[in-house]
Amino acid sequence: MKIVLLGPPGAGKGTLANLLKETFDLWHVSTGDILREEMKNKTKLGKEVNRYVDQGALVPDEVVTEIIKNKFKNNGRLQQGFMLDGFPRTGVQAEELDKILSKEGQPLDFALYMKASLPVILGRLTGRRVCRSCGSLYHIINKPPKKANVCDECGGELYQRPDDNEETIRTRMKVYTKSTKPIIDYYKKQNKLKTVNADLDAQTVLTVLMSILDENKKSHQHKNSR
Ligand code: ADP
Ligand code: ZN
Repeated sequence: MKIVLLGPPGAGKGTLANLLKETFDLWHVSTGDILREEMKNKTKLGKEVNRYVDQGALVPDEVVTEIIKNKFKNNGRLQQGFMLDGFPRTGVQAEELDKILSKEGQPLDFALYMKASLPVILGRLTGRRVCRSCGSLYHIINKPPKKANVCDECGGELYQRPDDNEETIRTRMKVYTKSTKPIIDYYKKQNKLKTVNADLDAQTVLTVLMSILDENKKSHQHKNSR
């Protein structure tokens, strides 16, 4: 499976990817996670992107595209499949991705648009907590840790992302509507868009995705046998 996840912040892209990883040996590439790791380690790149990420603004296209280019170049994992989460986020990035993938001869299967409504998004983002050590995701109501502020997986400390406050969430939503939402059309035109109702819980979204994958496989087999 070679897919990108599209959808507003809080649609559950990371949660879905984590669920899938439990079943498949899946390569999950999250630009948000990569950038936060760089920031945590105070690398040159991390320092460069810090102000954008913390304010909920987009990191410049060249910077993120370069990250993806380097990750995908001559990488054997590409043909096993991947799930891109948080990239592309602009029309330019979508076009760059197509270029990168066609160079590697590994075109995208489809884009999964996780459509979520505003109240659901706000509830998810304001209640989200993240493990500082392993990145596991929690929610103070929907998925609380067994012990307050402690990660079930690794015992690490849970924190609230600095960009998960109401003001920055509003900025991220604006950025999403202006820059990212238009690329839904880009994939629609390529006949590669699949939409799921991401207001539903992650397990249900996963079930829907599995049936989409199944249909996709069948229609390919059908095409090839004709
Ligand atoms: P969410 O989907 O919850 O908004 P992410 O973890 O995907 O969060 O991204 C967090 C931040 O990282 C974004 O607000 C943005 O600043 C930066 N970022 C991540 N991916 C990209 C990208 N493809 N292009 C530009 N900026 C990005
Ligand atoms: Zn942890």
